[in-house]
Amino acid sequence: MLIEIKGLQDERFLRPLRLIANLFFENTKVTFAKGKGPQLIASFTVKYSNGILVDVELTDQSSSRIYKGSCRKEDIEGTDKERFTQLKNTVSYAYLDALQQLTGIHQKWGFLTGIRPTKLLHKSLREGATKEEAHRFLHDQYSITDEKIDLMQEIVDRQLQVVPDLYDLRNEVSIYIGIPFCPTKCAYCTFPAYAIAAQRSSVPIFLEGLHYEIEKIGQVLKELKVPITTIYYGGGTPTSVSAKDMDMMYEQMYKHFPDVKNVREITVEAGRPDTITPEKLEVLNKWNIDRISINPQSYSDETLKAIGRHHSVAETIDKFHMAREMGMNNINMDLIIGLPGEGTKEFQHSLDETEKLMPESLTVHTLSFKRASEMTQNKDKYQVADRYEVERMMNLAESWTREHGYVPYYLYRQQNILGNLENVGYSFPGQESIYNIMIMEEQQTIIGIGCGAASKFIDRHTGAIQHFANPKDPKSYNDSYKKYTEDKIQILKQLFAD
Ligand code: SF4
Repeated sequence: MLIEIKGLQDERFLRPLRLIANLFFENTKVTFAKGKGPQLIASFTVKYSNGILVDVELTDQSSSRIYKGSCRKEDIEGTDKERFTQLKNTVSYAYLDALQQLTGIHQKWGFLTGIRPTKLLHKSLREGATKEEAHRFLHDQYSITDEKIDLMQEIVDRQLQVVPDLYDLRNEVSIYIGIPFCPTKCAYCTFPAYAIAAQRSSVPIFLEGLHYEIEKIGQVLKELKVPITTIYYGGGTPTSVSAKDMDMMYEQMYKHFPDVKNVREITVEAGRPDTITPEKLEVLNKWNIDRISINPQSYSDETLKAIGRHHSVAETIDKFHMAREMGMNNINMDLIIGLPGEGTKEFQHSLDETEKLMPESLTVHTLSFKRASEMTQNKDKYQVADRYEVERMMNLAESWTREHGYVPYYLYRQQNILGNLENVGYSFPGQESIYNIMIMEEQQTIIGIGCGAASKFIDRHTGAIQHFANPKDPKSYNDSYKKYTEDKIQILKQLFAD
């Protein structure tokens, strides 16, 4: 698919316009060149008069006019970068409108891509805007619909109820610990997750590196007197390692991290039911782990097989009951909308099964085709629902959760997500995951420890974010964890120097 742009020369327009085009068509190419040819679907012309953008036009291959609109006329001023951003938003606004008319598809998130929606709303409110002003900004700047703005506001309100000091937590940190092993690799997965059977020999050395990082990072946090807000074990599946290894890991955490007893929340993902055993649940209890995840993704054995999960629905249910009986009273379950071969009927079945378990939180993801996943690379093998069916499932999730007492408390969006929709975390009021709020809203530093763990260092004064990633594969991690730990320690010393 090719869309040509006329009337603009600045290369910086190409990426944002391509991202918008991809909300409507797969793999669109956007070019300034005359792209005549079988793949050309439309020409988008931007017209200026005396240097001011006045109108836009979209024509199809045969040059028939599909859309003609006026750009909002604003005084474009400020620095070069600010002027470009204003111009880009103005053009994007009209371009989205034109493509909506061309395709008949209405984008509920407007042309917001690459920015966390609720973070944007938090920012406006934190800077002193009233709710009305903040909502108007989201509507005018990004064309976001009222339905999605209301959802964002509901989530922001809920987050501030759960973490009233959310805007004052920059003097603390949260910790993410990445364990890169899983029983098998799921077809849609791009996380650092390696089938553990083939990696047995690298587990001990990986754990040696992890213990080292826990010790050194713990030491520097104690020196700098930086408290920990939340700790999250993810990966991979942290319960893939043995009960003994888990026990030693949590012992190390208690020994070296400052004041673990007062950490607000410790979560361990036990996402794959096939990794859960009574011994491991005993270890989780022994170390007061507050919250775990047991992830069905789907309640269809056929789907689980198709996506390479190698566990059964019965096992998910059994392990859920086992965890409950052993005292786990905050369990999250993940479902994915749009898995291959699944439509409204299958998703309704998953919700019916969820009703029998009633976990404290339910995270509803929409399938996304990430470039590196097996599923994306063999897309033809997997039949997925169209955007209208995906939207029906999303609506079903929303009404089902409300009817069953859940509230939405975080959301995020990804590129190439089916139907250009979102992932939403729902929970019973009071059972929300604080870590999930921290990672989504980027209000404090998150230190990533372990394989593939990404750190986000937030400047306490400006809020500027510095990204830092540990190596993704166990071998590179094992070869270099000392250096990566030292680099993070230096950043922490700078951030918390005064
Ligand atoms: S269980 Fe999660 S981390 Fe592991 S392979 Fe599947 S999607 Fe990836």
